[in-house]
Amino acid sequence: MAVHAYRAPQSISEAVGLLASEPGAFALGGGTDLLVQQRSGARSPGAFIDIKRIPGLLGIELQEACWRIGAATPCIDIASHEGLQHAFPGLVEAAGLIGSKQVQGRASLGGNLCNASPAADSVPALVANRAMLVISGVQGERHIAAECLTLGPGKTVLGSGEFVSAVLIPRPQTRQSDAYLRFIPRTEMDIAVVGAAASLQLDAEGRCVAARISLGAVAPTVLTVPEADAVLVGSLLDAGAVSACVALAQAACNPISDRRGTAEFRRHVAGVLLRRTLAIAARRAAEGV
Ligand SMILES: Cc1cc2nc3c(=O)[nH]c(=O)nc-3n(C[C@H](O)[C@H](O)[C@H](O)COP(=O)(O)OP(=O)(O)OC[C@H]3O[C@@H](n4cnc5c(N)ncnc54)[C@H](O)[C@@H]3O)c2cc1C
Repeated sequence: MAVHAYRAPQSISEAVGLLASEPGAFALGGGTDLLVQQRSGARSPGAFIDIKRIPGLLGIELQEACWRIGAATPCIDIASHEGLQHAFPGLVEAAGLIGSKQVQGRASLGGNLCNASPAADSVPALVANRAMLVISGVQGERHIAAECLTLGPGKTVLGSGEFVSAVLIPRPQTRQSDAYLRFIPRTEMDIAVVGAAASLQLDAEGRCVAARISLGAVAPTVLTVPEADAVLVGSLLDAGAVSACVALAQAACNPISDRRGTAEFRRHVAGVLLRRTLAIAARRAAEGV
């Protein structure tokens, strides 16, 4: 039986050093993807670098310009956080859909991002909210937009020794809110066939002044569609603007066909979910929820 090293660094610099020097090192969050992949033979980690004991890697904090979520924070803490529920109800919805309560107790936000599954539920909601990722590495810190992390299924831009240490989400403006919906073939414990997120900001007259949509599981990486966002801005989110946005988003989808659904079905569901997500985000933004 293979022997795996387990390390529990106490600082970011120690973790970076171990990730860069231990053969076959993987960052370990909750292990809900990594340990399953190890058992199935999909990945063979030589060393687990547990990042949960590093100060600042766990926890949710409101800062001057943004919310900071430590990358190892379990999704259950996000799903039950009152401040986040008010600021980003869509992100909270996404975190609360991951697996089960037991899975959410282990599953970290950073792991959901770095596992690089196109179907990861938190990712469209983070992208719609313009989240930035803090990447720690040998050279120090760098920041990237959440949508720039993945290159394809299971592949990220992270280099040797690098890991995501925090997620920064800009504080919402007045009359700005979000929503996330996904479709799964059964009522729980399944991964998204399609996930759709939207963040909208309205003015006092209900006119859309900022919009960002994001779709999951319809392309190798999370999808943003700037041209679909653009048709919403300046509109009253009337049927014409929403239909134009949905049509552009569907045209940008590049889904696969698999046993969960055909590409055609996924494109159709993306349109349905996006339309509903926009309606929920608009209502929340108008109500100041
Ligand atoms: C029963 C079950 C149901 C599930 N249901 C869902 C679901 O509905 N929706 C969904 O989106 N997911 C689901 N998942 C997948 C999984 O729970 C999530 O992707 C989870 O968020 C992964 O987090 P983790 O901390 O467990 O990651 P880990 O398994 O610890 O790590 C996953 C990968 O990311 C890397 N990694 C972890 N943290 C970092 C970091 N900070 N920086 C760099 N790399 C890092 C690891 O090296 C590994 O390659 C499910 C899993 C199970 C077992």
